[in-house]
Amino acid sequence: MARCEEGYLCQVCGQEVEHLWESELYLRYVVGWVPPERLHQEPERHLRCSPALAQFIVHPDFPSVEVPPEFDKRHMDPQWVKQREELLTRGWLRLRQLAQRTDVPVTQYPLPEVLARWQDPLA
Ligand SMILES: [Zn+2]
Repeated sequence: MARCEEGYLCQVCGQEVEHLWESELYLRYVVGWVPPERLHQEPERHLRCSPALAQFIVHPDFPSVEVPPEFDKRHMDPQWVKQREELLTRGWLRLRQLAQRTDVPVTQYPLPEVLARWQDPLA
């Protein structure tokens, strides 16, 4: 069942999170921050409603977000910011790719290194 047909509501603005690539929850899932067993228990939000996280998606197709100064990445360690940008941008591109496919089970959504880690936590 396509995720976008389930009609989850954004905790921040109350509107439906219509597309996979708008979903903060699924982004956190594909990068390994939300384990599969938590996926249906965590709150859903639009990425645009979660600027502190969305600012790390660096891509011409992703609209820039207004970030409160206390969460602004420009005040953070550049090395850490770079790693986070790399991970979350890759995760977001993965969501865009998945949004166009119906043959991938949710359990296979995460990035390859995340799946590998979950399958073998000692690796
Ligand atoms: Zn929202």
